[in-house]
Amino acid sequence: MHALTLSDYEAVMTPNYGVPSRIIREGRGVHVTDVDGDTYLDMAGGIAVSAMGHCHPELVAALVAQANRVWHLSNTLANEPAIALAKALTEVTFADRVFFANSGAEANEAALKLARRAAFNECGPEKHEIICFENAFHGRTLFTVSAGGQPKYREGFGPLPGGFIHIPFNECAPFERAISEKTCAVMVEVVQGEGGVRPICPTLLEKIRIACDRVGARLIIDEVQTGMGRTGRLFGYQHHDITPDIVTSAKSLGCGFPIAAMLANEATAQHFTLGSHGSTYGGNPMGCAVALKALELINQPEMLSHVERVGAHLQAGLNALNTKYGLFERVRGRGLLLGCVLKPEFHGRAGELVKAALDLKMLCLIAGPNVLRLAPPLILSQANVDDALSRFDQIFARFEKDPA
Ligand SMILES: *Cc1c(COP(=O)(O)O)cnc(C)c1O
Repeated sequence: MHALTLSDYEAVMTPNYGVPSRIIREGRGVHVTDVDGDTYLDMAGGIAVSAMGHCHPELVAALVAQANRVWHLSNTLANEPAIALAKALTEVTFADRVFFANSGAEANEAALKLARRAAFNECGPEKHEIICFENAFHGRTLFTVSAGGQPKYREGFGPLPGGFIHIPFNECAPFERAISEKTCAVMVEVVQGEGGVRPICPTLLEKIRIACDRVGARLIIDEVQTGMGRTGRLFGYQHHDITPDIVTSAKSLGCGFPIAAMLANEATAQHFTLGSHGSTYGGNPMGCAVALKALELINQPEMLSHVERVGAHLQAGLNALNTKYGLFERVRGRGLLLGCVLKPEFHGRAGELVKAALDLKMLCLIAGPNVLRLAPPLILSQANVDDALSRFDQIFARFEKDPA
């Protein structure tokens, strides 16, 4: 077989993704190596997924052990890793019950369907409105692009599911106007990830909780990006003085093995009655065995305080570089989910920074055209941060302030 190239990629993949600039062959810890043998510092973490870095020995061991037992059964049979993982998740969160899926969008799809069904059972079909936020991202299924607050992801896919109300993020007045007895759910991220690494205003989140209780609506928190230690707590909602009704988790839950979970309290979960929803792969023993080990590794006080410490070090370093170069309005985010927000005069150019980082053998992300986003493995060391910062120093220094 001839060596596979990016032109092969371009020839056979559907063109919905930009053609990547590298083919990566392997990863270890916080580094990945491409087919030419070049090694990169991973400050992207596969989009906030590779929380324990690449090929973590304990995750590999959990996966291999399960691979030698049984791969798949379907939900007509039970398996031990799924029961153990669901038990563990309910022990460390607000949740009483868990539904397993395979991706963030699927977990959110389940959350939206569950909220609709709960409201239908309790109050009838009139109570179906779902309040969501501008710039929110909840996945790419038709239901979740409809919930999301980025019209470009919905364009040309209509007719879309109805009943969604989108309001500006982090403003209380539009929310107070939108919520009513017809509201069945409010869906929100505690830090908008794709939408620009924007932490929610704690007052808004508290108001949402109170208003949901008043009208009998479910509070759904999408923690697909913020969950599993990313913000320095196991889940981002745990920084706040509220209890959700439904939380979704994916990305770092399997640390790179596809698995997702929808967590719910008893009063909500009971509406997923026999036959009302399902998934062939959801809760498969492979994903659950990996996620069980991931949860055990991440939900340690030392690990979570490490995320806070290293995240603070990274944020402080970026702020110091910004004092020197003045590219950013601010650096925002929580733990190891950080966004550097370009000043208006540099708007649209976050992608250039990602490309410049790649040239210096470092992987980064954007969150929209104006925000450089970092979501590295949680095992990143202080020394790795210093390494990243010295590369950013060069990148920011070379950033052309007057583009042609
Ligand atoms: C990535 C993401 C999703 C979608 O997850 P997929 O696994 O790509 O379906 C949903 N919500 C949030 C907040 C995300 O960051």
